[in-house]
Amino acid sequence: MKKTKDGFIHYVLSMAAIVILTTMLGFGFLSHSIRAQTISATPYSSYRYESPSATIQVKTTSTKSIWDAAIKKWNATHAFDFKLVSTGGTIQADSFSSLAPAYSTIAGITYSNYTGTQLLSAQTRLNTGILNKYRYTNAEKTNVAEHELGHTMGLLHNPSQKSVMYYKNRYLSIQPVDIAAVEKDYHTLIANDTTTNAPILQQTFFEPIVPKKAVLQADSVNAFCQVKTVSDFTAVDTARPA
Ligand SMILES: [Zn+2]
Repeated sequence: MKKTKDGFIHYVLSMAAIVILTTMLGFGFLSHSIRAQTISATPYSSYRYESPSATIQVKTTSTKSIWDAAIKKWNATHAFDFKLVSTGGTIQADSFSSLAPAYSTIAGITYSNYTGTQLLSAQTRLNTGILNKYRYTNAEKTNVAEHELGHTMGLLHNPSQKSVMYYKNRYLSIQPVDIAAVEKDYHTLIANDTTTNAPILQQTFFEPIVPKKAVLQADSVNAFCQVKTVSDFTAVDTARPA
């Protein structure tokens, strides 16, 4: 009789242990999947400069302090070095002011020109008309400028909100995932650069306006970047008849 009772207690304890272990594992997986959804690595393009450095020219007086602050912020990470020049910068930073229908939802635009894996140049612009209309603070405008500079060095949109490259970013500055992406981009692929006989392409990134208290919706990250061909080939075959 005693033996049966011991066996029963043993059975109950074993079942309890299995339930507890299963529950712990379940929570483990759950918390892991939540983390995976909220923080993800910032993606980067297949093109970049030869080294993590480029000259930049700020062509505007109205947002010069914003661009200067954003450049300073990126340079402080030591992942990329923006060198300020007064003429002929590889990257041209500017601003415009338009509330016209075509730009009424656009806070910023960056055009990145590349061929093969070689980033050639970039033009990046803030839409001050829209930024002021939606009452972006200078810190929030700087966040947008940091995002645009991210595109000029080859970063793509991050679906995660915990990144300066979140495609609807207003509130976040450069995050560790963004620095890590630049370091990984410029340290792992440099041996694979190709530039010959590839078309010159331009990728355009549009930054949608983010109104205060906006309800964030899970729409498509890819809706805000387009690629078009600028010229067919970088190296023209001179032997070919005109
Ligand atoms: Zn963007």
